[in-house]
Amino acid sequence: MKARLNKVALLSLSLIFSANSLADRLQCENTDFTLQTLGTGGPITDDQRASSGEVIWLNGKSAILIDAGGGVFLRFGQSGARLEDLKLIGITHFHTDHVSDLAAILKGGYFLRKKEVIDLAGPAGGGAFPSMTQYFHDLFKKEDGAYSYLNGLYNATDGLQLESKVKDIDYTATEPQLVYQDAEMKVTALGIPHGDVPCLAFRIETTKGTIVVSADQNGSNKAFVPFAKGADMLVMPLAIDENADTESKFMHAAPDVVGKVAAEINPKVLVLNHFMGKGLRLKDQSLKTVKQYYRGKVYTSRDLSCFPISLADGKE
Ligand SMILES: [Zn+2]
Repeated sequence: MKARLNKVALLSLSLIFSANSLADRLQCENTDFTLQTLGTGGPITDDQRASSGEVIWLNGKSAILIDAGGGVFLRFGQSGARLEDLKLIGITHFHTDHVSDLAAILKGGYFLRKKEVIDLAGPAGGGAFPSMTQYFHDLFKKEDGAYSYLNGLYNATDGLQLESKVKDIDYTATEPQLVYQDAEMKVTALGIPHGDVPCLAFRIETTKGTIVVSADQNGSNKAFVPFAKGADMLVMPLAIDENADTESKFMHAAPDVVGKVAAEINPKVLVLNHFMGKGLRLKDQSLKTVKQYYRGKVYTSRDLSCFPISLADGKE
């Protein structure tokens, strides 16, 4: 009996150890200025990756969340990111795989120790898609919001400790639009052509370097190149394969287009994400195509991968 008990004790101890080391691996060691991919999949559950989401760490804190697709709620917690440290949530567009976990993450506003203010920015409305402010109303408006019980998110009332400053960004503007600025960082956005879906790319500038995050796009907006120029790190989706059909190529850049756009921008580091379906199965082949054009460092991301800005000067 005693031996059996010991075995049980040992087993639970090893479970604790493996749980701890797992937790360590999910969090970035260097959070000076780091991109962490939370979700690197698309809208297909079979891919076994969370949908889109990235956290930007700055000076040890999770300063920005870009996108909150399905699964990002869980990955956000695993990464060690904290809602109270977020200054900005930037939503690139209103496809479910970029936004469906937003309400779940904001609900955490109930459990904060003190009142916090958060900026939310997303594209203005267009076609079948709402604006950022309209989407926020659809979720949280007092009378007819889907989660009207979280109406306190507007101005930190009803037990919610989060005041949301919600902003629409003109995705049709030819010049970059200012999204957010404080002493540590400046964030601008530019519209990118994701078929006919209003969609934004974000540029984050700090004294430690510049990261540009592109969401889904077909690569046809020439203004994206100057917008992203000078970036130390560029994030691009590699959603489809080279032989995808015309409709897919209207929505997404094929690997050769990703390679050409990256070559023109010439960042020090290129991070690829948004792998889905056949694009995921043909990832290695697609990566080769990208590398035919872009000669710098390329990384294919997984959920919870860490890309510190120091990769740009070859230190890591
Ligand atoms: Zn997407």
